[in-house]
Amino acid sequence: MANNRTFTMIKPDAVANGHIGAILDHITKAGFKIVALKYTSLSPEKAGEFYAVHAERGFFADLVGFMSSGPIVAAILEKDNAIEDFRKLIGATDPAKADKGTIRNLFAKSIDANAVHGSDSDENAAIEGNFFFSAFERF
Ligand code: UDP
Repeated sequence: MANNRTFTMIKPDAVANGHIGAILDHITKAGFKIVALKYTSLSPEKAGEFYAVHAERGFFADLVGFMSSGPIVAAILEKDNAIEDFRKLIGATDPAKADKGTIRNLFAKSIDANAVHGSDSDENAAIEGNFFFSAFERF
């Protein structure tokens, strides 16, 4: 993946609360182009694989349970400076600490159910995008 791309998920809480449209609108209005998009879900095994880096953390089991609790939306997004700009757009991991107007400030209620994922590096954006999308499913 080129280094002007990031990967996002709209998490089960935001999907269940009916925020898919509003969040995608927020993302595209901020200048991100959607180059791959999928409505899907994660099994506990797949959620554990996606978040393997957190396997030793105390919240891992809850995170896996939550991320496999319902449908999600996965997307690859393109924009100059995509990683940094998207992390700014979504706000801090804990919505209580997220800046006003960020996606987590607007749509998330707690640190464990925090509405969206955003890759933290170009390398992880490529790994995460490849986890969900084949070459035929992105532009
Ligand atoms: N998480 C959690 N409790 C914590 C820290 C993180 O449930 O104390 C969850 C939360 O959903 C977060 C995910 O684990 O989005 C990954 O954590 P990370 O530190 O990578 O945060 P992010 O990059 O998503 O802001």
